[in-house]
Amino acid sequence: KLDIAEKFARRLGANVQEHTVHAVDKVDMSIAPGEVVGLVGESGCGKSTLGRCVAGVHQPSEGTIRYRGKDVTKLRGKDSLESRLNVQMIFQDPMSSLNPRLKVSQIISEAPLFHGLIDRNEVDEYVAMTMQRVGLDPSYHQRYPHQFSGGQRQRIGIARALAVKPDFIVCDEAVAALDVSIQAQVLNLFMDLREDLGLTYLFISHDLGVVEHLSDRVVIMYLGRIVETAPTDDLFRDPNHPYTQALLAEAPRLETDRRIYAPIKGEIPSPLHPPMGCHFHPRCPHATERCRTEIPKLKEIAPGRVSACHLNDG
Ligand code: SF4
Ligand code: MG
Repeated sequence: KLDIAEKFARRLGANVQEHTVHAVDKVDMSIAPGEVVGLVGESGCGKSTLGRCVAGVHQPSEGTIRYRGKDVTKLRGKDSLESRLNVQMIFQDPMSSLNPRLKVSQIISEAPLFHGLIDRNEVDEYVAMTMQRVGLDPSYHQRYPHQFSGGQRQRIGIARALAVKPDFIVCDEAVAALDVSIQAQVLNLFMDLREDLGLTYLFISHDLGVVEHLSDRVVIMYLGRIVETAPTDDLFRDPNHPYTQALLAEAPRLETDRRIYAPIKGEIPSPLHPPMGCHFHPRCPHATERCRTEIPKLKEIAPGRVSACHLNDG
């Protein structure tokens, strides 16, 4: 029998394969316990691949992923299982990740039962507690996923992830499919769970507005590379990288007295054939000859802030 992570990996198999080449390149990031990191970029930038690597559902072809100091890509047996249970992933579309033939109580209790985290006679109580924790009425435990709204289904997905007692959750576009008002409710739930359970999150989104309120730190990716990392307040107040500035210009839901930046121009290039030099140069209003040939390195521009742009050398 496969465990949850492997099932996901299979389901994602085709998608993962085509991205293995250079989906993520020289990415170096760390997340402290209890921290919420927002990972932002357009589709195809490699953020989902990175998230899947972190969650252990996809093996990187090169590099290491350390969890509590141990390289998870080298863990085997019990240690590997433990780290995979500790790091859970929540996806955009709860309907495609929830088995439509299972009742909510089965969806929530399947993995903890299988891994011996709870006994059969504890199931009802455990399911009720877990449903309550995510704001679902426990009296609905005999219902099937299709009997719930989109927002409630995402709560079921969250309940299933929480049921194996993780301490780290990777959310990949976890609210992208929901109406804005429901998005806010689910985001609040994530924050409540952080408080209550001390969870750590990697929160992946194409939408800066979504990560603004819940992230301590934001990492911006463009075509497989990190281009900027900053504490959330700093990033929104004073974005350094022209790509970050363009993303901010395009986030209409953010109302502050931010400077107006030029919106992003042109289509995102294929991640399989990224431009030479700075990947962003065909779309960057500040690009120079140097940008076309030389890859800008991530440099510290202020304490806790890095950015990869040649403008920072000048
Ligand atoms: Fe723009 Fe050049 Fe900076 Fe890249 S390195 S973001 S092209 S100015
Ligand atoms: Mg994605």
